[in-house]
Amino acid sequence: MRKRPKVIIIGGGASGLMASIAAQINGAQVVILERMNRVGKKILATGNGRCNLSNVNLDINNYHSSYIKFVNGIINRFTVEQTLDFFNQMGIEYKVEDKGKVYPLTEQASSVLDVLRYEIKRLGIEEVCEAEVVKIKNDKSKKYDKFTLYLKDGRTMSGDKVILATGGKSSPNLGSNGSGYQLVIPFGHKLIEPFPALVQLNLEGWFLKRIKGVKFNGKASILENNKNLQTEYGEILFTDYGISGPPILQLSRKCGELLQKKNSNPYISLDLYPDFTKEELKTRIISRFYYHPEKTVELGFVGMINKRLIAVILKEAGLNNLNETCKNIKDREIDNIINILKNWKIPVKGSRSWMNSQVTAGGICLKDINPATMESKLLPGLFFAGEVVDVDGDCGGFNLQWAWSSGYIAGESAAKSDI
Ligand SMILES: Cc1cc2nc3c(=O)[nH]c(=O)nc-3n(C[C@H](O)[C@H](O)[C@H](O)COP(=O)(O)OP(=O)(O)OC[C@H]3O[C@@H](n4cnc5c(N)ncnc54)[C@H](O)[C@@H]3O)c2cc1C
Repeated sequence: MRKRPKVIIIGGGASGLMASIAAQINGAQVVILERMNRVGKKILATGNGRCNLSNVNLDINNYHSSYIKFVNGIINRFTVEQTLDFFNQMGIEYKVEDKGKVYPLTEQASSVLDVLRYEIKRLGIEEVCEAEVVKIKNDKSKKYDKFTLYLKDGRTMSGDKVILATGGKSSPNLGSNGSGYQLVIPFGHKLIEPFPALVQLNLEGWFLKRIKGVKFNGKASILENNKNLQTEYGEILFTDYGISGPPILQLSRKCGELLQKKNSNPYISLDLYPDFTKEELKTRIISRFYYHPEKTVELGFVGMINKRLIAVILKEAGLNNLNETCKNIKDREIDNIINILKNWKIPVKGSRSWMNSQVTAGGICLKDINPATMESKLLPGLFFAGEVVDVDGDCGGFNLQWAWSSGYIAGESAAKSDI
């Protein structure tokens, strides 16, 4: 009679927890090894503590990978609908917010982790924390327990199948420090160079310290050689290092790609007044100057431009004498000011660090993984789940959905495949 396969999951994050349940309900005996003192730390931080767990408007264009067909296959095999049913059956009531984002009705990420942990306990899955795996060994000659995992503290553990669910390199304080990559590279798996995504950007600008904390609702675009590659709209925040806010996080993936290339000099272009055309702005400015000819140009903009931005914008537009009266401002100078307000180009120096990024672009290359099962093509019995592979999604619940879908498929396949 076939022995119940022992599946060891490395990493107790979103994908590992999902994989553990899928494997156990499909007949495996499961152990989760987690390097932190408890599982699911990152889940608690998601969606600002509200956990944007999925997105009902999911589209493959929300994902990025060198092998996007692979991603489509997995998402269609364990779908958003199945995911929401799965969580609903475990007790999560949910609601759909703008742009299809799904949150638990409680708006508490801890509810999501709590129901997962309750289910894990109910099913009898073993959870071992403070257990960092540093090496995987495989002995093909054995029938059972082919895999031996070596822990940092000297312990070992053996099993028939292994699921690597160690996440990427983002937010290492929550557990994912990139150590998972090194566990499978010795078996021939290739790494697509990781870079931080969904992250704030460092900008080059003399003015940053002066305008830190200024917020506006506007458009931000990423430009390379004056070509607009992507535009996003929403609340944007200047910081002492550069720029932040949801539109910037969405642009950061494209920006990261450019920063990976040699000789690429990406720029951010800001439109501070997306609801006005240049002509409309010009009419307003001319009228302001007409009614207040004796005001200094700096005062002339109070009430139209955020006070902390005025001097910076005027200087960026080439006006050095801020005490010049409005009546003396030339037409060409007004055009320059409008150009800054509508198309303020600021060079990008880089992105913020791994600590600040929400997701990792790049990871273990999907070409060596079976798209139906998440099993390694190089080492049978080794499976992958979640962010450790070369898949990342936009902001909006797409990354957790990838963790749930890939975790479920990996867990189910590991339990069902032959020992
Ligand atoms: C602040 C923040 C907010 C986010 N908000 C959202 C959101 O609202 N919606 C969304 O869709 N996505 C969000 N994300 C992204 C999402 O959380 C991740 O994509 C997802 O958690 C990835 O799941 P994972 O299981 O692959 O990896 P992780 O959740 O990173 O889990 C990996 C686990 O493996 C453990 N581990 C690593 N190496 C080892 C080892 N060698 N041995 C043992 N254990 C190991 C780690 O400690 C960790 O617990 C957010 C991310 C962050 C940082």
